Amino acid sequence: MKPIVIGNWKMHLTASEARAFLRDFMAHPAVFERAEVTLCPTGPVIPIVADTLRGTAVRWGGQNAHWETQGAFTGETSMAMLADLGCTLVLCGHSERRRFAHETDADISRKVEQTVAHGMTPVLCVGETYEQRRQQQQDIVVIEQVRKGVDLLAAFPSLSLYVAYEPVWAIGTGQTIESADAMAMARLIRSTLREELPTGADSVPILYGGSVTPLNVASFVDGDSITGVLVGGSSLDPVAFHQLIAQLV
Ligand code: PEP
Repeated sequence: MKPIVIGNWKMHLTASEARAFLRDFMAHPAVFERAEVTLCPTGPVIPIVADTLRGTAVRWGGQNAHWETQGAFTGETSMAMLADLGCTLVLCGHSERRRFAHETDADISRKVEQTVAHGMTPVLCVGETYEQRRQQQQDIVVIEQVRKGVDLLAAFPSLSLYVAYEPVWAIGTGQTIESADAMAMARLIRSTLREELPTGADSVPILYGGSVTPLNVASFVDGDSITGVLVGGSSLDPVAFHQLIAQLV
C-alpha cells in the first residue's frame, strides 16, 4: 500500500500563492507516483488547484463541508460542490472545527455519512486535548469520537474511510507524541472500528497528524498500524512538503 500524505493548508495560501506553490511542488513529480498525495486548500482556491493537478498523480480535497446538499446555510459549502470540483476526500471533525465552529460528534457523523454518500472519502479526525491526556482520558475520548464518527456508516455496502489520529496538543505546536504512543492509539482505533463496522474495518487507513515535519515523518509511518500522515504547517512550503513525502517512498 502506498503511504498516504494529506496536506491541510488551513486558512493559508491565496490563489496566486497556491499557483506559485504548485509550480515548485510539481517540478519533480516522480515521487508522487509512489505515494497517495492530496492537497486540501480553502474552498475558493480548490478550482485553481484542481485545474493545475488534473491529469497528475496528486489529488485534491476539502477541509470541511456541510451535511445538507443545499439550502439556506450562508457561508457554507456543500459536499456536492466539493464532489463536483473533483475532490476525492473531505476532512471531517478537524480539531480546529470542533473548537472554533463548535462541531459536535453528531454533526461530524453526518458529515462523514454525506462525504461517503457523495462518493468521496471522509477523513475522520480524532484526538485528545492536553488536559484530557493529563487526566489519562485519551483512550476514552478517542474511542468515543471514533464510535460516534462512524455511527451512520453501517448503511453503506462498501466502506470508504480514513481515520486521522491528531492529538490536539500536538497540532501546530511543534510538540509531537512518542511514535510508540501514536501507534498504540492507532491499534486502539483499529479495534474500535472492528467493533463498530460490520465489514471493512481492517482496510481503513489510519493516519497520524500533529507537527509532522520532513525530519520526524518516517518515525510515525510504520506501514502497519499507521499508513500515512495529515500535515498542516509543513504542507505550506513546497520544498519541505516534497521532502516530507520523499521520506516515505
Ligand atoms: C493539521 O492541521 O491537521 C495539523 C496536523 O497541523 P500541523 O501539522 O501544523 O500540526
